[in-house]
Amino acid sequence: IVKAVDVSKRFGNFLALDKVNVEVKRGEVSCIIGPSGSGKSTFLRCINLLERMDGGAIWVSDELVGYRRDGNKLHEISDSEIARQRRRIGMVFQRFNLFPHMTALQNIMEGPVQVMGETTKAAREHAEMLLDRVGLGDKKNHYPSELSGGQQQRVAIARAMGMRPELILFDEPTSALDPELVSEVLDVMHDLASSGMTMIVVTHEMGFARNVANTVTFMEAGKVVETGLASKVLSTPKNARTAAFIQAVQ
Ligand code: ATP
Ligand code: MG
Repeated sequence: IVKAVDVSKRFGNFLALDKVNVEVKRGEVSCIIGPSGSGKSTFLRCINLLERMDGGAIWVSDELVGYRRDGNKLHEISDSEIARQRRRIGMVFQRFNLFPHMTALQNIMEGPVQVMGETTKAAREHAEMLLDRVGLGDKKNHYPSELSGGQQQRVAIARAMGMRPELILFDEPTSALDPELVSEVLDVMHDLASSGMTMIVVTHEMGFARNVANTVTFMEAGKVVETGLASKVLSTPKNARTAAFIQAVQ
C-alpha cells in the first residue's frame, strides 16, 4: 500500500533524507526506529505531504503522492488534490493536538462532517463507536483539558480513524506521555493493528515493535541502515549500528 523509492529531502544544504526506500503492505505494521535527527518525522511528513520531497517517489495505494504523471513529465498536483490525498492518511503526533475548544466527540466528528460531508448523525454514531473502541465511551463530552495525556492520545487515534483512512502514521505517539499512561495507548494501537489497519509507527517502544510490528526499519542520518522482518531485525540485526541502537533503547 505504501512504496517509497529513493526519497530524498533537503533543508538548505542539509540532507535530511538520503534515498530512503520503504515498502509497507496492506494490513502491515511497520516500525521506524533510529536516533534523534535521523529523518523519521521528515519521512512521515513526506508521505502525507506536510513536506515536499526533493527526489524519489512515494506511492500510496498505487497512486503517486504529490505528483501527476503526464507522459514523461511530472507535475505537482493542485492543493485540492493534495487535500484529497491527505484525507486517505491518518496521522497521530507526539503531542495530542486535539482542538481544545471541542469535546472528545466533537473532535472526532469534525473531520467527517466538515471535510467528508458525512451527516451529523452518521458521524456521531461512528464517533461514539470509536470512543467505545478506545475505551472512552464515558468521556465523550469531556474537553481535552479534562482528559489525561493517555486519554487525549486515545481520542487522537479515534479521530484519525474517524476519517476512515487507508493508512495511519504515528510519530512517537507515546513519547510525551507519563510512563504509566504509555501502555493504554499502545494497547489501543495493538488492537488497531489486529483489526487489520495499515500503520507506520515511529517509536522507541521496542516491546511494541517486537510484539506488533511486521517490519522494522532502522534509520540513521537520513538513510535506511537496515530494514526487514521485525523478528529478524530486532533479535539478530545485521548491522552493528542497528544492534547498538536497539541495545541502547531497551
Ligand atoms: P526525533 O527522533 O528527534 O524526532 P527525527 O528522526 O524525527 O528526530 P527529523 O525531525 O525528521 O528527525 O529531522 C531530521 C533532520 O532534519 C534534523 O537534523 C532536523 O534538524 C532537520 N529538519 C527537520 N525539519 C526541518 C526544517 N523544517 N528545516 C530545517 N531542518 C529541518
Ligand atoms: Mg521526529
